[in-house]
Amino acid sequence: MARRQETSSGVKKWFLKEAGKLWPVADGSISFRKSPCMRERCSICDSGGHGAHLLQGRLNGKRFTVYVPGELAGKVEKAVERGRAMQHLVMEAGERYTKALKRERQQKQERTKARRR
Ligand SMILES: [Zn+2]
Repeated sequence: MARRQETSSGVKKWFLKEAGKLWPVADGSISFRKSPCMRERCSICDSGGHGAHLLQGRLNGKRFTVYVPGELAGKVEKAVERGRAMQHLVMEAGERYTKALKRERQQKQERTKARRR
């Protein structure tokens, strides 16, 4: 179906299909930090600290930090990238949904007019 003819339920179908392809997603940022541990004499701390990947974000106004083991960092990084693609998808969905709603409203009004004639 041509995009300019699509219905609001058509937009939903398209969105759910595309959103499903994007999973897994994440928001926030993943970073690598070095920090000291609690041990008194630690050679790792002496050479800069223990490396840790952290996923940080905000949920309901509260900041959160999740420690990410090094071997999983690549997966979470990819999820954050896909999260950005998801935001783009939501933006496009909103534009297409609103246009579809307007089109459906206009069609309904035209049908009502035709019935009155
Ligand atoms: Zn240490």
